[in-house]
This record gives sequence, structure tokens and C-alpha cells, in this order.
Amino acid sequence: MASKVQTAPDEFRDHISTVDEEGKRVWVYPKKPKGKLYNYRKYVSYLLLVLLFAGPFTKINGLPLLMLNVVERKFVIFGVLFWPQDFFIMVVAFLTMVVFIILFTVVYGRIFCGWVCPQTIFMEMVFRRIEYAIEGDYTKQRALDKMPWNAEKIGKKSAKITIFLLISFLISNLFLAYIIGIDELQKIITDGPLEHKAGFGALLLFTGAFFWVFAWFREQVCTIVCPYGRLQGVMQDKKTVVVAYDYGRGEPRGKLRKNQERTEGDCIDCHQCVQVCPTGIDIRNGAQQLECINCTACVDACNDIMRIIEKPEGLIRYESEQALETGKKWTFFTPRVMGYTAVLAILLTALTTLLLTRDDAEATILRTPGQLYQKTEQGHIKNLYNISVINKTNHEMPLTLKLIDKEGTIKVIGNELILPAQGIAEGVFFTEIAKADLTGMNSEIEIGVYHGDELITTTDTKFLGPAN
Ligand code: SF4
Ligand code: SF4
Repeated sequence: MASKVQTAPDEFRDHISTVDEEGKRVWVYPKKPKGKLYNYRKYVSYLLLVLLFAGPFTKINGLPLLMLNVVERKFVIFGVLFWPQDFFIMVVAFLTMVVFIILFTVVYGRIFCGWVCPQTIFMEMVFRRIEYAIEGDYTKQRALDKMPWNAEKIGKKSAKITIFLLISFLISNLFLAYIIGIDELQKIITDGPLEHKAGFGALLLFTGAFFWVFAWFREQVCTIVCPYGRLQGVMQDKKTVVVAYDYGRGEPRGKLRKNQERTEGDCIDCHQCVQVCPTGIDIRNGAQQLECINCTACVDACNDIMRIIEKPEGLIRYESEQALETGKKWTFFTPRVMGYTAVLAILLTALTTLLLTRDDAEATILRTPGQLYQKTEQGHIKNLYNISVINKTNHEMPLTLKLIDKEGTIKVIGNELILPAQGIAEGVFFTEIAKADLTGMNSEIEIGVYHGDELITTTDTKFLGPAN
């Protein structure tokens, strides 16, 4: 439908809706949403919550599905263990994720914010619903906050705070499980706080942070803090699909009056879309508002009204700004989308290749400092080396070392090299090579690290010998 009316000047974009002119917080009391899309969001959030809570307990080859242990610099993604030595793979993975997010946002706007983001899911589908259950819908909540402290207010507020704290503690356990792993978390729980003061301290700190976010800070995470939200303006364009008000059809808005022929547009100015908005905005001001998390609550609210006044649904709907302006159908493959898709395909190919060719272990072999070479009775030359091997699997591996590109022997000093699961093995060994096989004072040699007959990694190092 062609554009007829621009609903409002753009000054609403100069400030955020939850801060008044004096810079004070305007508390948002959103009306309890209901409707088809809200129900779908509930089902999606149940599924995602189950996956989120099952994540730390789900293991692949004994390793968790996801663990980001920044303390020990150990990362597990889909059961694959990454060490800081895999930094370049992590960089490519990170770049791939960033391009994927940009591509997704260019095409579908903030659909992630409304349907998948843990902040929205916990806020709107967990904490907010508990609040509705205890304090009632928005008018009752407002009245409760205004009333003086009495038995009813104290009872309701303490019930809410207690439940919020318990859920925050639960989320904090989950969060920690994704950092240190469920086994370590179980140790903190079973051994008691005194045995794990740092871990227990972290649990309390996270609990406090989550409680503060969900009980007080709320939508400001999306409107003020979230970097993804801040970047919307540069990622989206007029072809991006967003939750938008069809001003061509809705304007000029006007109240519905009995026994009066309607000359205005379809918007009856009932404010239902504004009342349900969890970020406190009016979607009718214009598309692509910074605070809009595309939660679709206003879509449901307006569709309800449209059904009542017997007008077609979709006055507020998923639509691109361009489609609203021109009435043309939404096109997926724009040059920008094709460009991002090509970059994403290249990055995905690189990432897959790196993952498929990644060794199960990584060895660092260095000549022992302060040692030159030794001559044996047979006239062979010996060098002493230090070896450090990192295990990227969850299996213990006894290791043997062999020269790959030269004849010679390797003798490990002391105990056999055993590489513990997810761990590091260190040792010292002699390499002995016939003098005739050396290429000079400083020869390149390649050493293979074997688990049984399987060559798990190779590494190059220097071998010192006499000048002639
Ligand atoms: S404007 Fe609509 S979609 Fe956007 S945050 Fe508010 S209710 Fe959700
Ligand atoms: S809910 Fe629909 S009809 Fe009511 S004010 Fe919003 S856009 Fe207009």
C-alpha cells in the first residue's frame, strides 16, 4: 500500500522512552500480552529453556556441549575442546558468528531479540509472568506500587523478591556450569561453600547481578546496554523485516465513535499496542525504533482490536519499511544480502576445513636451554629436548615419539609420556642422529607424536651438530 501519511516527526528518536526530560527512569508497566504470536513465543521459550538447562548435563564423548572456561582458558563447543593454541580457529569462528549475526539482522531485523535472546526469555517469559501471577496485571501493579506499605504490599513484594532471588540463584548456577562445567559445579555444591570460597562467591555475585537485572534494570539492558541493540541502526536498512505499523492503512488515526460513519484510517487510537510494549514505546511513531525488540506483543494486541472492529488483521505486522512505503513485495536477495552470504560461505568453508584438519594434540618441542650437543661412542650426535603436549580430546593417550624425516632414535628420559584427558604432558628426551645425516650445524628435523600406530601430530625443531 502506498504511503499516505508520515505519522509523527522523528523527535522521538532523540531520547529513549523510559527516561523522562529530567533524566529519571520511567517505570514501564506493560499490559499482560496474549494472542497467537505470544503463544508461539511461549512454546519457543519453553523449548529454549529446556535446551539451556540441559546444556551443561549433555555430554559428547565425555565433554560438555558448551563450556567457556575463561579461568583455565579451556573452551568446549559441541563437545570439541579448544585451547588457547586454537586461537586462530576461535578467531575464524568468532568472525563467522559476527557475519552470520549481521546477515541475519540485515534480513530479519531483531527477530533474535524478541524470540531467542535469554534476556527477553527470562524477563518476559519467566520473571514478568511471576510478577503478573503475584501482583496482577499492569493496573494492579501500578496501584500496588503507589499504595502505602501495608500487609498486602509487604506480602506480595516479599513473595516476589523471594521467588526472584531463588530463580536468580538457579540461573547463576546454570551460568557457572557453562563456565566451569557441571562436574566442578557439583563439587562446589557437595563439598560446601568453605571448600570453594571463590566458586561460591561467584555464585552469590551472579545471583545478585541477575536479580538486579530482572527485578530492576529490566528493559534497559536492551535499550541502553546491549551492543547488539546499539548496532541495529547500522545493520538494518529499509528492506529489513521488522515489526512495523502500516501507517498507510492506519492513518489518520481516530477514535471509534458509535453511529458515525468512519472517515479515518484503521487505527482507532486505542493504545493497546502501547500498553503491552515491554520497552514502553509507541510503534506507530515509526519503524525501526531503537527500543523495539520485535517481541510482537503489539502485533497480538492490535490483531485483537482488528478482529473486534471487523477489520483485517496485520495493521501492525512483520514488514519491511520499503514494502510499507511502496507496497512492493519484500525481496530477500538484495545485493547487500548476497555480499554477506558470500563472505559467510567463505568463512564457513575456512572454519570447516580448520576443524576437520585439526590435530587431536598439539606438541611444542624446544631444545633444552643451555645444552649443546653430545657425541656418542659410535660418532652419532645427541640433542636434549623438552616437550609439552596438549590433549584436545577427552581420552588419555600414551605417547611415543619418532623422527619423521631422518634416521635416528628418540629416548624419553624417565617415565613414559602419558597424555591425560584434556590435559598437558611434559617430558624430556634425547634425539640421536648419525652425523652423516645432518645438513650442517643447525639441521631442521620433524618429530612425530604417536598414539599407538596413529600419528596424532608433528612438529619441527632444530638439531645442533658439529660444523664438519
Ligand atoms: S513496539 Fe511492539 S514489537 Fe516492539 S518492543 Fe514494543 S511491543 Fe514489542
Ligand atoms: S492497537 Fe492497533 S488500533 Fe489500537 S492504537 Fe495500536 S495500532 Fe491503533
